[in-house]
Amino acid sequence: MEEVKSKNLLLKEIKTFKELEKEIIDNNKCCACGACVAYCTSQGFDVIKMDGNKPIYITDANIDNCKECGICYYICPNTTPLIDQINEEFQIIDELGHIITVIAAKTTDQEIKKLGQDGGIVTTVLTYLFEQDRIDAAIVSEYDENFKPVPKIIYDKKDLLKSAGTRYSISSNILPLKDFNKISQEIMNKKDILNIEDLSIAFVGTPCQCRAIRKMQHLSISPIYSIRFVIGLFCFENFDYDKLFEIIEKETKLVPANVLKAQIKKNFFVTSRENKVFEVDIKKLDEAVRDHCHECDEFTGRFSDFSVGASGAPEGYSIIIIRTNEGQNLINSLLSEGFIDKYNIPAKEISEWKTKKINWFRKMTSLKTKKGK
Ligand SMILES: Cc1cc2nc3c(=O)[nH]c(=O)nc-3n(C[C@H](O)[C@H](O)[C@H](O)COP(=O)(O)OP(=O)(O)OC[C@H]3O[C@@H](n4cnc5c(N)ncnc54)[C@H](O)[C@@H]3O)c2cc1C
Ligand code: SF4
Ligand code: SF4
Ligand code: SF4
Repeated sequence: MEEVKSKNLLLKEIKTFKELEKEIIDNNKCCACGACVAYCTSQGFDVIKMDGNKPIYITDANIDNCKECGICYYICPNTTPLIDQINEEFQIIDELGHIITVIAAKTTDQEIKKLGQDGGIVTTVLTYLFEQDRIDAAIVSEYDENFKPVPKIIYDKKDLLKSAGTRYSISSNILPLKDFNKISQEIMNKKDILNIEDLSIAFVGTPCQCRAIRKMQHLSISPIYSIRFVIGLFCFENFDYDKLFEIIEKETKLVPANVLKAQIKKNFFVTSRENKVFEVDIKKLDEAVRDHCHECDEFTGRFSDFSVGASGAPEGYSIIIIRTNEGQNLINSLLSEGFIDKYNIPAKEISEWKTKKINWFRKMTSLKTKKGK
C-alpha cells in the first residue's frame, strides 16, 4: 500500500496523524472506518493501529516512524480536504447526491430472502458478481459468536450468506484492505490471477465508509483501483456495541451470544436463537448512538454506485438508488436475468412515485441532521 499518485492534489500544508487525532479522533468525529490504519504509508514500521474502534499510535516510541505523508489525514471521510473534488466527480450538489433513478426490488433467491435484511438486494448482487466472475472478492461484515460485527474480505460466494443482514454497530469495513497483500497464493492460483492488482473487488459499507473509498480512489492509492463496485447502505445512525447490548440485555434479558437477528422498524427488534422476538423502544437506545453519527449529514449513501435501504420501500422490498452508470448496468443485468424482481408500481401512483420517494429521503436526511443538533 505504498504507492501514492497524488492526482489534482496540491498539498499546501501536510497534516498527519497528529492532526487527525486532534481534530477528528479526540473530538469524537471518528466513524472507525479503518481507512487511516489500512492505508498508513508506514505500515511496515508499525505507526498506528485500531484499538477497538479507535485509531491510535501503537506506542509513543513509534511516532517517529511516521513518514508525515499526510495520507491518513486526507483520506479520512471526516476531514474537509478532497470533499469538493469528489463532490464534483460524483455530481453531488445536494444532500441526496446524484440520482439516476430509484426503484424498489427484492431477491428471487429463497435462501437469501430468509437471511437478507430487507429485500436481500446486497447479497444477491454479490452472488451475481461472483457467479459471473466479475469479482474475485467482496468486503462485507460478519458476526462473531457474540453478535459483534467483524469486517471481512471473502473470496467465494459460499461465504456470502454469513454476511447477510444488518449489523447495527461499527464494522470497520475498510480495515481488511490492510491485509490485502497477504492474500494466499492458493486463492491467486484458484482464480488464475498473477498480479494482485488485477483482482476485482466489491465493497459494501455505510455512507461514511463509501466516502473514504472515493477519497482514496481520487488519490489513486494502490490498490484501491481493485474496488470496482461501491455498494452503499442507507444509514440513519449507528450504535456503540457495548452500550447497545447493555441496554438490550437490561430490556430483554437476552445476551449477545443468544441473538440471531436485529432489525429496526420504527423500534428495535431482536430475535433470539429460539426465534423469540423482542421489541425495544428505539428512544431507549439514544444513549448508545455513536457520537460521530450525530454530526453526519449522509443518509442515502451519496458516494456509492448504488445504495440500498428499506426506508420508503413496500413491505418485503428494498429501495435501490442508482447513482452511476456502472450501478445502473449492474442492476439492469440482475433484473433482466431474474436475480431480482422489480416492484410494479400501481398505475395510479406511477407519475409521482419517484418524486414522492425522493421527497421522503430528503425528509429523512433533514430529520437526521436536526436530531444531531
Ligand atoms: C448501521 C446501519 C444503519 C442503517 N439504518 C438504516 C435506516 O435508518 N433506514 C434504512 O432504510 N436502512 C438502513 N440501513 C440499511 C438496511 O438495514 C439494510 O442494510 C439495507 O436495506 C440492505 O438490505 P438487504 O436486504 O439488501 O441487504 P443484505 O442482503 O441483508 O446484505 C446486507 C449487507 O450489508 C453489510 N453490512 C451489514 N452491516 C454492516 C455494517 N454495520 N457496516 C458495513 N456493512 C454492513 C453486510 O455485510 C451485507 O453485505 C442501515 C444499515 C446499517 C449498517
Ligand atoms: S506515515 Fe503517513 S499515513 Fe502513516 S501515520 Fe504518518 S502521516 Fe499518517
Ligand atoms: S480514517 Fe476512519 S478510522 Fe481513521 S480517523 Fe478517520 S474516520 Fe476514524
Ligand atoms: S450515521 Fe453517518 S457516520 Fe454514523 S455510521 Fe452512518 S454514515 Fe457513518
